[in-house]
Amino acid sequence: MDTLLKTHNKLEFLHPLNGFYSEKLSNSYPTTTPKLHELRFGVKKSNPKWSKTTCVRASSTSSALLELVPETKKENLDFELPLYDPSKGVVVDLAVVGGGPAGLAVAQQVSEAGLSVCSIDPCPKLIWPNNYGVWVDEFEAMDLLDCLDTTWSGAVVYISENSKKDLDRPYGRVNRKLLKSKMLQKCISNGVKFHQAKVIKVIHEETKSFLICNDGVTIQASVVLDATGFSRCLVQYDKPYNPGYQVAYGILAEVDSHPFDVDKMVFMDWRDSHLNNNLELKESNSKIPTFLYAMPFSKNRIFLEETSLVARPGLPMRDIQERMVARLKHLGINVKSIEEDEHCVIPMGGPLPVLPQRVVGIGGTAGMVHPSTGYMVARTLAAAPIVANSIVRYLGSDGGLSGHQLSTEVWKDLWPIERRRQREFFCFGMDILLKLDLPATRRFFDAFFDLEPHYWHGFLSSRLFLPELLLFGLSLFSHASNTSRIEIMAKGTVPLVNMVNNLIQDRD
Ligand SMILES: Cc1cc2nc3c(=O)[nH]c(=O)nc-3n(C[C@H](O)[C@H](O)[C@H](O)COP(=O)(O)OP(=O)(O)OC[C@H]3O[C@@H](n4cnc5c(N)ncnc54)[C@H](O)[C@@H]3O)c2cc1C
Repeated sequence: MDTLLKTHNKLEFLHPLNGFYSEKLSNSYPTTTPKLHELRFGVKKSNPKWSKTTCVRASSTSSALLELVPETKKENLDFELPLYDPSKGVVVDLAVVGGGPAGLAVAQQVSEAGLSVCSIDPCPKLIWPNNYGVWVDEFEAMDLLDCLDTTWSGAVVYISENSKKDLDRPYGRVNRKLLKSKMLQKCISNGVKFHQAKVIKVIHEETKSFLICNDGVTIQASVVLDATGFSRCLVQYDKPYNPGYQVAYGILAEVDSHPFDVDKMVFMDWRDSHLNNNLELKESNSKIPTFLYAMPFSKNRIFLEETSLVARPGLPMRDIQERMVARLKHLGINVKSIEEDEHCVIPMGGPLPVLPQRVVGIGGTAGMVHPSTGYMVARTLAAAPIVANSIVRYLGSDGGLSGHQLSTEVWKDLWPIERRRQREFFCFGMDILLKLDLPATRRFFDAFFDLEPHYWHGFLSSRLFLPELLLFGLSLFSHASNTSRIEIMAKGTVPLVNMVNNLIQDRD
């Protein structure tokens, strides 16, 4: 056994006292660290009075809204999963750590090629908790249209009280129950074995690795894929981890009524007149703005998410909830009951993991979040076949690679130079967004959504690569107002120099 890789505490950059809390992140928090949930804002989840089916009238304070949050939203799929048998001591071709969209997509595709796969997750049957939104064309390109449960013919962006953009691009909500069921079904029929546990350590030999789980079971595999999302269980980073954070609070709610068109989703609502009566909130929102993202399902059912696009450090969750309550009151949205809520904390940008390294990665753990938007599902699902084909090619009889050599090739396929350059440009975008206050953010998006669809679609969906990204930048500059140009130049010069430096240093 030549290498022992230690896992490290990935949450040290979050600030619990800021009120950050994420179900997903808390899952990965080591048990010896301070109890994050004790520091959480006052959500009362234990009172049976506020059960899923009960409707309690909300008042204007955020605690009143939070009291409507149901006790639990966890739902398991009804599947009989074939279990991994540790007593046999079999070395599987691929062990996938993490059963989120990224991990299951690769498990499914590698097993389809006849390789043996073990999928390890503490809750393998749990329906994924996040409410995923995607552009319909992204799912269409992957033949996954049947996995959208709702689609909107377009989207709207409220730049300010007096300015609104209509985006002629259909948007959809992922039917996560169906998508996960489909993937699990295919995994089962391809012979994937499941193990319900958390991986705590990996030990590598030359041609195989040992995964140690928290139930004492060891799983041996030729290739290990870390798909543990933002908990980044096994993949190693060697540079200071300094991401921005997208923080959002979302509720799927039954409401008396809402003012939005049910045919359009609200991609961004930057209006701030709801804060006119609260100067303190108005001022903090002007410095680090939040917007409303909304999916209206009907006149009375809507997903509402108050979102800080990106900030460093991330905006405290309780500030976001306070702003949301003020906004809903102003919009005349009376929440009758909440089906589910989500605490969203997405690390954005920051360094890529060590490239290459012995453990392979995909999804949140492998730096695949779009650094300027926080989106990732579509990009990850599109990258899964690349990782899967690479593993199959190099591990199969033709490739005949193993150990570090094999992982090196897979990392190369996942992060080729053009993708790294693209990410560098997106990080540059994030660095500018981090510095914009509300008026500047409005000017930025006013110009952004005036671009040719090819540019803004391509930017949001990671379809533009470096030469075109430069044209995108020039086009954005030419659409921007003079004030916005000066802002972009003033705030973008240092990030631009950093980007150019990083591009020069990063060679194949
Ligand atoms: C609240 C929220 C909303 C989001 N909404 C969107 C959206 O609308 N559109 C979009 O494109 N992106 C969205 N994202 C970003 C991103 O797409 C999601 O985070 C996505 O779930 C990431 O997929 P993943 O498979 O990489 O990781 P995850 O979905 O996080 O899955 C990781 C899995 O690994 C398991 N795991 C963790 N540690 C271990 C361990 N030690 N051993 C074994 N298993 C482990 C976890 O239990 C989990 O099942 C959102 C993120 C969040 C947090």
